[in-house]
Amino acid sequence: MPTLAEVLARETRAGDLYDVLPDGRLRCYACGHCCPLPDGAIGVCKVRFNENGRLLVPWGYVGGVQCDPIEKKPFFHAYPGALAYSFGMLGCDLHCGYCQNWVTSQALRDPRAQAPPLRTTPADLVSDALRQRARVMVSTYNEPLITSEWAVAVFKEARSAGLITGYVSNGNGTPQVLEYIRPWVDLYKVDLKSFDDRHYRELGGRLAPILDTIRRLHAMDFWVEIVTLLIPGFNDSRDELLRLTDFIASVSVDIPWHATAFHGDYKMTSPENTTAAMLRQAADIGRGNGLRHVYADNLPSQVGDLENTRCASCGDLLVARYGYHIRSYRLTPDGRCPSCAAKAAGRWGTGFEGQVTAHPFAPGRSRLTIL
Ligand code: SF4
Repeated sequence: MPTLAEVLARETRAGDLYDVLPDGRLRCYACGHCCPLPDGAIGVCKVRFNENGRLLVPWGYVGGVQCDPIEKKPFFHAYPGALAYSFGMLGCDLHCGYCQNWVTSQALRDPRAQAPPLRTTPADLVSDALRQRARVMVSTYNEPLITSEWAVAVFKEARSAGLITGYVSNGNGTPQVLEYIRPWVDLYKVDLKSFDDRHYRELGGRLAPILDTIRRLHAMDFWVEIVTLLIPGFNDSRDELLRLTDFIASVSVDIPWHATAFHGDYKMTSPENTTAAMLRQAADIGRGNGLRHVYADNLPSQVGDLENTRCASCGDLLVARYGYHIRSYRLTPDGRCPSCAAKAAGRWGTGFEGQVTAHPFAPGRSRLTIL
């Protein structure tokens, strides 16, 4: 019986995101680790490796697929109500102790993470998305940057079918990977986990490449939203949140920031759950630093107006929500406030077409087979 690592090593093809160093090693640029890989070495992510001078990368499978409301990603300023066909592969460049997707992200590090890969093709994924009436395709669940060659192949197919595309990512990117994906990715959510480099090192990364990626994403005109899972005692001090939201505002006050409620998961079960009062305090800090669109997620109906989108100019209600559910949508067809005609920051459709998830929704049977 082959191990999961052996199975995945077969499901690869030659990658694009690397250079050959003068000493013959390969430098991978898919994520901020920029691993230098001698022949036979595997990257920190455990899914990209140097075999006889070629960088082999994941290809031809998914670790899971599901149709979700786009609000769950979360994107609040991109096609509200749309269904987002979400797929991921296996592996991650970080190892966060509270990961909610650890079964796929940590599949090659933790023997308890059992996620059988499912064989598929870009064309099959797109036809499955269309059959389920998805309007958006999102690479998520594991870290999409480390499987960018596969995501681009899927998104090329998705674009030709008229779908919007997005990454749900930890933001540990490089200039090279952002240039590579830019023609094919519309929306980009970054999980900004902390503003303390020591905390990032505990999770297996560094703060600097993530901040650099956020600046570049905005400058390159991806639609960016930022999420911070607020973990009591880890990243919720006033000082840290002041610095974190000041940074976002320095990039753009129009970037939506979501403060999200933590609940114990995976290896991090001891911090108390985040309360609505904690989310409100964080939101006040973000607004105090000038952010125009601040949200509190994961505690529906407990955070007052912090689930809703209001016009940054006149304060009129643009989108009212209950959790992932759209209660009302008032933007004009060209994405403006109906009261003062100010343009709302985001990517909007010409109208609200209803929300499939407003009704009981069961994902359709997938055509995927276990490897
Ligand atoms: S994706 Fe990141 S962790 Fe994986 S090999 Fe490339 S640089 Fe290293």
